[in-house]
Amino acid sequence: MPWQAYDWQHQLADAIRDPDRLLAALGLNPALLPAARAAAARFPLLVPASYLARIRPGRVDDPLLRQILPLGAELSVGPNERVDPVGDLTARQAPGVLSKYRGRALLIATPACAIHCRYCFRRDFPYRENQAGRGRWQAALDWLGTHTDVSEVILSGGDPLTLDDHRLAELIDALGQIPHLRRLRLHTRLPVVIPDRVTEALAVQLSTSRLSAVVVIHANHPAEINTEVRNALAGLKTAGIPLLNQSVLLAGINDAAETLALLSETLFEAGVLPYYLHQLDPAVGTDHFAVSDDRARDILGELRARLPGYLVPRLVRELPGETAKRPL
Ligand SMILES: *Cc1c(COP(=O)(O)O)cnc(C)c1O
Ligand code: SF4
Repeated sequence: MPWQAYDWQHQLADAIRDPDRLLAALGLNPALLPAARAAAARFPLLVPASYLARIRPGRVDDPLLRQILPLGAELSVGPNERVDPVGDLTARQAPGVLSKYRGRALLIATPACAIHCRYCFRRDFPYRENQAGRGRWQAALDWLGTHTDVSEVILSGGDPLTLDDHRLAELIDALGQIPHLRRLRLHTRLPVVIPDRVTEALAVQLSTSRLSAVVVIHANHPAEINTEVRNALAGLKTAGIPLLNQSVLLAGINDAAETLALLSETLFEAGVLPYYLHQLDPAVGTDHFAVSDDRARDILGELRARLPGYLVPRLVRELPGETAKRPL
């Protein structure tokens, strides 16, 4: 298995953060630059070379480019857009702990991501006050230790796999010592964005924890899944980790049954089952990605007609204050 040629931390450090460099690297029209700069000033551009390599040059409508290119459309605030679109702030229980659903608690393990998705629902999340990382895990661990009804902890962020193996081991070991916890879930885009992040040490760590681990990746389009991603997923799969995928339904990116069907089939061949297809959360500056509920239901109907049931993701919308994500 090709573990670590040019290690993932260097790949992350060398990621493109400058809109000028992005446009030049992809041979895109420099006229896009002023808007890209303005939008990136609100939510920075971030894209590592491994993901960039999957974007077709010169194509402003490329579905992978659309996920990362800052656009002027982000600067207009739609009537339904909110800074805290899914009620995260009222769900906060301790620094870095969100609890909305019975039996599960979500830990904001770090504010960092390996890519900035323009549609991100946490683009305005006040991480500074709400992260559990940087020596601040104790309060989160204490909260989990006293809440015996919690059986599953979800490491989220940001992206928990931006933590290095050592920090992650510390956290996972500490979680493993909380007797009522049974499952450890990771919500991460890293196996897709920087596949080299899936080190052998990571796979061993997850498979040897007392907790049953499950990894939920995030891919939106079949072109995101290349050979490197398949190898990374195979590393986790070989270690016995169940793999699921969540996607966001995004206008102009994956709002077609054909695309989503191919995504499910491509993921299945890589050992991943579809989990959720999320309706977009109305974060500020994202409404150009929204797909209407009617259209979303039509797309899902078409997927059901084309695919075996186990390859059809659950179409859901998250509404603040509900006991689960709501099926559409
Ligand atoms: C989405 C989410 C979960 C996980 O929900 P599942 O339906 O179990 O995937 C848990 N906690 C929070 C705060 C969430 O936002
Ligand atoms: S990886 Fe996830 S948390 Fe990070 S920017 Fe993308 S959608 Fe948001």
